[in-house]
Amino acid sequence: MKQAKEWRLDLGIYAKNDRFIASDEIETLYDKLIAWAENRGWCIGGRIEASDELCRCVNVKSVILLARYSISPLVCRDCFGTVAFEQIVIDEKVKEELKSWQRLYESFYMLWLDSDGYESMGLHELTNPKSILNQRGFELQKKLQKFLDVWYWWFTQSIRENFEVSQKCPLCGGFLEACNHGKCCIKCKLIIQV
Ligand SMILES: [Zn+2]
Ligand SMILES: [Zn+2]
Repeated sequence: MKQAKEWRLDLGIYAKNDRFIASDEIETLYDKLIAWAENRGWCIGGRIEASDELCRCVNVKSVILLARYSISPLVCRDCFGTVAFEQIVIDEKVKEELKSWQRLYESFYMLWLDSDGYESMGLHELTNPKSILNQRGFELQKKLQKFLDVWYWWFTQSIRENFEVSQKCPLCGGFLEACNHGKCCIKCKLIIQV
């Protein structure tokens, strides 16, 4: 069994029904965790904080399709906050598709974060324009265009060392332009993380 002097638990908690979670509930959970650790003679570091910066814009017009363990995979292009489904008018069916795409995306992202055996599997799905993951994402982007101006967040390994920014669009090969939150391909409506 693997042992370590310190373990880090990266835990995100979100409600399945997209409702907000009251801070006192999380505080209760945190107190329980502390008591549980103390019983074993362990200490718990860290702190509680609301992880998602929610968009408070009155009129959301332009969004980015971006799965980041938040209440929805839509991010406001103006403030970069997560857009709750209640803030916009979209079909119920599309909402369900968005949620299932988000879960899928986050699963592959988890695999990529696992720098052991599964990293390349996750990386392949995230960075291959033809992967089912990205194909589904592009389809959703198209469907959502009826309701909003939608951009697709293109994954890069920017958090890793020796990362080099690509100058060309991974879809059409055209040159990228500097834009809000990264580089963009205007034609494909892609934002590349840099
Ligand atoms: Zn906003
Ligand atoms: Zn392009």
